[in-house]
Amino acid sequence: MSLFVSDEVLSKVVNMVGGEDAVRIVSILKKTDKSTDEEISNKTDIRLNEVRKILYRLYDYSLVTCERLRDEKTGWFIFYWKLQPDQAEGFIHNQKRKILEKLESRLDYELSHNFYSCLTEGCERVTFEDAMETFFRCQKCGKLLQHNDNSKIVERLKEKIASIHQEFD
Ligand SMILES: [Zn+2]
Repeated sequence: MSLFVSDEVLSKVVNMVGGEDAVRIVSILKKTDKSTDEEISNKTDIRLNEVRKILYRLYDYSLVTCERLRDEKTGWFIFYWKLQPDQAEGFIHNQKRKILEKLESRLDYELSHNFYSCLTEGCERVTFEDAMETFFRCQKCGKLLQHNDNSKIVERLKEKIASIHQEFD
């Protein structure tokens, strides 16, 4: 027998995976048996692209499932999304572990690399190794790369990891 998680815990997990918009999407799925991405977009006023992005992310964590049905008139496939029915305690713990693993490996990556950037909006941060290869010039805009302090990112990741431990342990 499985223990079902409360709406509150489910919301927290969903929020962690996809933010406020994901919580709104899940609340629509809770009310309907299944919905297409367009229906969800219409009901939430979240842009279709964004709805899809969030659905795929939720799918990635097995929080939603997807059913593919062929439209009899057009012959096209229609994708119906529904909440993963198996929202058992163990399942949520699994998701928590997956989220923690991702955050921890991200933290590990931040701690074990030095980053460089040109500080221009739209340009990306690169690692020291990559910066060396381009002689410390930004590959996109050509500006000189400077050492990039990632202590804020590290701090945020640590906080997030701690809060997951706190909320679910
Ligand atoms: Zn640049």
